[in-house]
Amino acid sequence: MIKTDTVTETTTREVSWTACDLCGNAQNLAGDESVIVEHRTGESYYKGSLNRYAVCGVDLCAGCFAGKLLPWLESQGAVPHAKQYDDLAC
Ligand SMILES: [Zn+2]
Repeated sequence: MIKTDTVTETTTREVSWTACDLCGNAQNLAGDESVIVEHRTGESYYKGSLNRYAVCGVDLCAGCFAGKLLPWLESQGAVPHAKQYDDLAC
């Protein structure tokens, strides 16, 4: 008897740089600064395993966030709030 196994290979590419959608400058996704501008819709179970959602977002560098998006949001009446995270647990 011949035993046959099927193996599926998946290639994962780790992206550490992306271009800002406004100015085109490269931004380091693994650096000390990050900007996330996105809208998520869908289902999520907080402690469960199901996370099914769609994400609509843009890639922005820190300069465009602080120099373009934030001033525009403030001009529309938004009040930015700052948070400090000190999570050193690994
Ligand atoms: Zn930019």
